[in-house]
Amino acid sequence: MMSACSESSWPSYRAGACLTVDLDAIASNYRFLRERVGRASCAAVVKADAYGLGVEQVAPVLEAAGAQDFFVAHVDEGIRLRSVVSENARITVLHGPRPGVANDCLRYGLRPVLNSLEQIAIWRDEAHRVDVPLEAVFQVDSGMSRFGLSVADIERLRENSDLMAGLKIGLVMSHLACADMPDHSANPLQRARMLEMCAQLPSAPMSLAASSGIFLGSDYHLDMVRPGAALYGIAPNHVGPNPLSAVVRLQAHVLQVRDLLPGDGVGYGMIYRAAEPRRIAVVAAGYADGFSRHGAGQGCAWFEEFRLPLIGRVSMDSLIVDISDVPEGRLDADMMVDLIGSRRSVDDVAVAAGTIGYEVLTSLGHRFYRNYVGKAESSEKAIDTSAQNTR
Ligand SMILES: *Cc1c(COP(=O)(O)O)cnc(C)c1O
Repeated sequence: MMSACSESSWPSYRAGACLTVDLDAIASNYRFLRERVGRASCAAVVKADAYGLGVEQVAPVLEAAGAQDFFVAHVDEGIRLRSVVSENARITVLHGPRPGVANDCLRYGLRPVLNSLEQIAIWRDEAHRVDVPLEAVFQVDSGMSRFGLSVADIERLRENSDLMAGLKIGLVMSHLACADMPDHSANPLQRARMLEMCAQLPSAPMSLAASSGIFLGSDYHLDMVRPGAALYGIAPNHVGPNPLSAVVRLQAHVLQVRDLLPGDGVGYGMIYRAAEPRRIAVVAAGYADGFSRHGAGQGCAWFEEFRLPLIGRVSMDSLIVDISDVPEGRLDADMMVDLIGSRRSVDDVAVAAGTIGYEVLTSLGHRFYRNYVGKAESSEKAIDTSAQNTR
């Protein structure tokens, strides 16, 4: 059980809610995945501020756990990451170079993914300019139609090898569209397509699987896997229990406890009306903190062993739960309830809101007090950032 915020502990008290991030759980998820993929190497995806959990805190912990390869989406994210990992860490930028930023990739030691002939040309020109062979990752589109070279693009490269003069292919990658559905026929088709496309390119290590793909079996591991979500405790599929450790706990303060009389309306639009006397708690987290107004009807909080159903609309800074089942006097203002915790996972919150765990994590607000526990507990950086977040 991760150590959490307590009601009286400063400065979490000043914030509405406290987000506890268990860095040891992230390290242990990394080691679990790495073991699972055997001799394939296991990278770590830390785009979008490590899925909203804080790249400054998370990336050094992953590096200490053995990660040598990191993926981010944008050049800016790569520059930020560069300052918190060692020089040896390899940083790959998924969206590759856009015109004018190739030089930044070089300056900060970022390896671009080249997703099109245009991006290959940008990186080739850069190699030509600095007169040194430059490494890159080539992405091939094996069926998702999102990023990567098409069969026709690869044909062009075969016809004219000048197009990639001065480039060294460090990795060929592709991405699965349906990996969270292990029986989906697109999975083996994408794998076969990728192998065919790779055979047409100069030989290089290959990477296909992200979190869910790892659980499709060793055929999908190839030379490198690229998990993100699984590191942060999100379930890779809906088959069986989640094998990963929970990473986040979100506790929010109760601002007020109130009694409802029959007929009383609750919140904007008064979409909830008490049919009988009820007791409610107003909780300090709202849609500005990532709690979607949409789907609030399935939402709940937990206090000890009591499930507290969400009622009425979610406001910007608060939401309201029914606490009638809690014996009177046990839950009062200034105490905290769990919005995400041992009884309600990130994935449960996602299902209630009609979305996926990825969106719940990356929507978590920036005004929570952030409590990092585990490896970096005493690091200056963790403390600095938390202090900023509570301003
Ligand atoms: C985001 C992303 C990943 C990581 O995906 P998860 O499902 O979070 O493990 C891997 N590869 C690419 C290309 C991505 O965009």
